[in-house]
Amino acid sequence: MLTVLNCLVNDHDFRYVGAAVVICVLGCLVSTRLFMSGREAARAKRAGFVLMAGVAIGMTIWTTHFLAMLGFMPNLEHGFDPGGTLLSLGFAVATSVAGFALALQAGRGPAVEVGGAVLGMGIALMHFIGMGAFEIAGRISYDPTLAIAGILFGTGFGALALNRLNRPITRFCRYGGAAALTLGIASMHFTAMGAVAITPDPRIVVPTQALSDSVLAVLVISVTGLVVALAAITYLADRQTSEDALTHYRHLATHDVMTGLPNRAAAREELSRRMKVGGGSLALIAIDLNRFKEINDVFGHAAGDAVLVDTAERLKACVLDGGFVARIGGDEFMAIKSYAVASEVEEFVARISQAFSAPARVGDTTFSTSASIGIASYPRDSQKIDDLINQADLAMYRSKASRDGKWCWYDADADEDARRRGQIAIALRSAIAADELRLVYQPQIAVKEATLIGFEALLRWESGELGTVSPAEFIPVAEQSGLIVAIGDWVLDQACREAARWPVEMSIAVNVSPIQMLRPGFVERLREVLLSHGLNPKRLEIEITETTLIENPGQALHVLRQIKAMGVRIAMDDFGTGYSSLSTMFSFPFDKIKIDRAFLLELDRRPNAASVIETVIELGHKLSIPVLAEGVETPTQADFLAARNCDEAQGYLFGRPLEKGAAGDLARTGLPRRAAPGPERLIA
Ligand code: C2E
Ligand code: CA
Ligand code: CA
Repeated sequence: MLTVLNCLVNDHDFRYVGAAVVICVLGCLVSTRLFMSGREAARAKRAGFVLMAGVAIGMTIWTTHFLAMLGFMPNLEHGFDPGGTLLSLGFAVATSVAGFALALQAGRGPAVEVGGAVLGMGIALMHFIGMGAFEIAGRISYDPTLAIAGILFGTGFGALALNRLNRPITRFCRYGGAAALTLGIASMHFTAMGAVAITPDPRIVVPTQALSDSVLAVLVISVTGLVVALAAITYLADRQTSEDALTHYRHLATHDVMTGLPNRAAAREELSRRMKVGGGSLALIAIDLNRFKEINDVFGHAAGDAVLVDTAERLKACVLDGGFVARIGGDEFMAIKSYAVASEVEEFVARISQAFSAPARVGDTTFSTSASIGIASYPRDSQKIDDLINQADLAMYRSKASRDGKWCWYDADADEDARRRGQIAIALRSAIAADELRLVYQPQIAVKEATLIGFEALLRWESGELGTVSPAEFIPVAEQSGLIVAIGDWVLDQACREAARWPVEMSIAVNVSPIQMLRPGFVERLREVLLSHGLNPKRLEIEITETTLIENPGQALHVLRQIKAMGVRIAMDDFGTGYSSLSTMFSFPFDKIKIDRAFLLELDRRPNAASVIETVIELGHKLSIPVLAEGVETPTQADFLAARNCDEAQGYLFGRPLEKGAAGDLARTGLPRRAAPGPERLIA
């Protein structure tokens, strides 16, 4: 060890040693990088990389050796034999290429380290051939222990270097490999130089053709130049590849693979970019292909994909003048257009709409498609991206639902209403299972006798998500979505079950939606429910509205007759709000007329409201149909009804809808008796 240090410190010029180390580190980095590229490259390109890596490290080993030799100061006349010097370069390159090739070929097998050892052996061989070309006026002898140690260092570090390169655990292993190679070259050289002893011998003459230090320096500088050039090329190629990869990945991340259009993320980015630029307005346009599912289902997904690709091509042509179109999923697209006047947007949207409705040809089949389009405007409708996207979607749904299918601008009133209905429809689906529905019961009274005659069952919904929702709001949604069938069935079952527990003179009125009533099987279901709870059909009254009857009179009449035949009574609800109340009253077999509460509300305000109520009551009496007035809230109203001989009444004055326990109690005790008759004093 000391000998080696002595040799390094005393016999060498440090400037050369420094340069040797620098070029060694650089060369090792370049060659390991090239080798790694070879590992990752396709099989056909591997040989090229291995060759370059081998040439780079071979030249590096050689340059390092001879730079260090230039810094070696034996104080004796000396020179370098040209043949041996060049031969050593050839050996360094050849063994390096062989070592790298062997290691790469071995993949992860044991020959990896063998390849590294071959490379390391190459360092040693080069060293001794190079020393053989060293002509000096003296005799050179080697300390065998140190010489062997040098060889072992070379092969050991060589094996370690390729072990790290070929079995990487982290990305830093590449640098570990380069470091091991550098150590291999340096330790081999300086240990072997430490083994050298030179005994001056004046009889030995340095041949004249031997290269002088200065000529060798030129040679070394040239090879160094080559190594540096290789380093530069590798660096540039590396940077280009990573830039290419980055562009490629960025494209992948922001584009839809199938159509090549920008994707959802890119659309959001574009939107926020344009928002930041400011000035003028932005139209966010939601587009949904109509009937795309049919194409997929009938002609297969390949045809569906082809239609999308075809449409996308036409869309690309629409956006040449500053518009932007992205595919944000399935058959949904989104476009952005900056504008000053709305007509610019309309023009742009018209072109987009055309692109969608142009027939798409796939093979021999031609598909005609169309799109539903909704537009939200920034900053008018919202300043937030998510809101704008939602608003454009809502407008798009309205366009889809419209008859002419024309694009729609977002309209807060229409679309927020649609959104709320959408929320209700979703939440309502799980309402029965989640036990969120319950019935309350509102007392109905006989006016003259001042007695309780029964209750109307009214539905209540305490949604986990939306809170309390009024039946006036959710019943229409349930009707539209068809959920009313299941809900109505549940109501009927619950109401009959409850009523069966009340005294036998108490009736129960249940609201039945037209959709529910006109469904095949309703009558059978009704019979089943009555039977299962043992409820006398006479105690059940079904409330239906006039719309049920107007829209489908034939079928409605048929069902009503069957219901009546069972003994169940039928009340006409909300009388007076329909269009042809009187004619309906004559043509259907009603057992009760419920005057809508709107008329009682008008009583104090409009003089003719009173005469309408009077007329309906009289008409009912002429037809022998009892009349019930809804929404009685004040004693004045109650007095008015009593004076006109109205048969029955219902309203907050007599009682608000009660929970089932309270309703049951009231059914058993009846209304509290008061001295004076008159409905206004029945209940507070
Ligand atoms: P409706 O059948 O006309 O029910 C009467 C409505 O008027 C009830 O509202 C009731 O709470 C309210 N009401 C009763 N007395 C008064 C009063 O003195 N003043 C005022 N301002 N209102 C009074 P609710 O419970 O909100 O029901 C609204 C509508 O929802 C019902 O109108 C009915 O059309 C429908 N509905 C309720 N439950 C059901 C059901 O189980 N099935 C079906 N298909 N529809 C139902
Ligand atoms: Ca009702
Ligand atoms: Ca009513």
